[in-house]
Amino acid sequence: MIPLQEQGWQSQPWQWQLSHAVRDSETLLTALDLPASSTKSDFPVLVPWPYLAAMTPGDPNDPLLRQVLPVDEEQVVVNGYGPDPLDEHDKTPVKGVLHKYHGRILVIATGVCAVHCRYCFRRHFPYDDFRVSRTDWQNIAGYVRSQPDIREVILSGGDPLVANDQLLSWVAQQFASIPHVDTLRLHTRLPVVIPQRVCLELLDWIGESRLKIVVVIHANHGNEITDDVADAMHHLHQTGATLLNQSVLLKNINDRADLLTDLSWRLFHAGVLPYYLHLLDPVEGAHHFDVPESDGRDLVQEMSQRLPGYLVPKLVREKPGAGAKESISLTTN
Ligand code: SF4
Repeated sequence: MIPLQEQGWQSQPWQWQLSHAVRDSETLLTALDLPASSTKSDFPVLVPWPYLAAMTPGDPNDPLLRQVLPVDEEQVVVNGYGPDPLDEHDKTPVKGVLHKYHGRILVIATGVCAVHCRYCFRRHFPYDDFRVSRTDWQNIAGYVRSQPDIREVILSGGDPLVANDQLLSWVAQQFASIPHVDTLRLHTRLPVVIPQRVCLELLDWIGESRLKIVVVIHANHGNEITDDVADAMHHLHQTGATLLNQSVLLKNINDRADLLTDLSWRLFHAGVLPYYLHLLDPVEGAHHFDVPESDGRDLVQEMSQRLPGYLVPKLVREKPGAGAKESISLTTN
């Protein structure tokens, strides 16, 4: 049993979970009955209690803990790893918008996340430049209206579900009023780390929108799909939303075929299909998570032998300046 300092957190709403998340290594490690760490980092610790509660007390190698605990390896400078691995800091035709892909735009809806993942490719992103006001949203909708080839708007971040449902519902209405927009996609890790985020207000506006809603969650390990997360996914599924998952291949966290296979099954039971397995983007401070492409290929090939095709994620990497993700072929030349 975790000696939770924040007793009673289970019954609190998601806003409370966000504002009371653990923000230092000492509290995190004490809650897990682990020795203190002296590692410092510019990318601060942020771990909500529901995510912490899914870790195993006393296990310094817990795969969820490893994703959020700063370690000294982050300070090691490695050639080829930079602050902006995807060269996306200047692809903004309108404030808040990254227009990298044909037919769809990505909006940095907020700079805030509910958890800080140590491997995050946007850990050095200048989020302060991307605070999106209501006027900015109207400008973004104006840009989308002027680009008839845009059929899908992707809300990313940070985590777009950090915003309240009143705002999100209004934003969805702005895009729903544009006839050529079909789909609103949400890239979010929030339901995985705070399943209470899938609240009635969220379900209401998603269920009522004329847009097709696609929710792409981000889970890397089967232990993240707790009963509460699975329940949240079932509720989302009932709104008619399409549910997909993207993972990052992470050394010593999920770089084994049995672990990835287990994740696919757990997602499937929760109504979510595995979508992408990303190779790590070479971001400064995350080199110790990197898994070679050849190992990634072997892992996905092994998964293909253990799973039906619809449960095998596509192995991909992002390339700076490319118009789409690069799909990694499973056969070597
Ligand atoms: S939730 Fe997503 S954007 Fe936020 S730190 Fe984690 S990986 Fe990065």
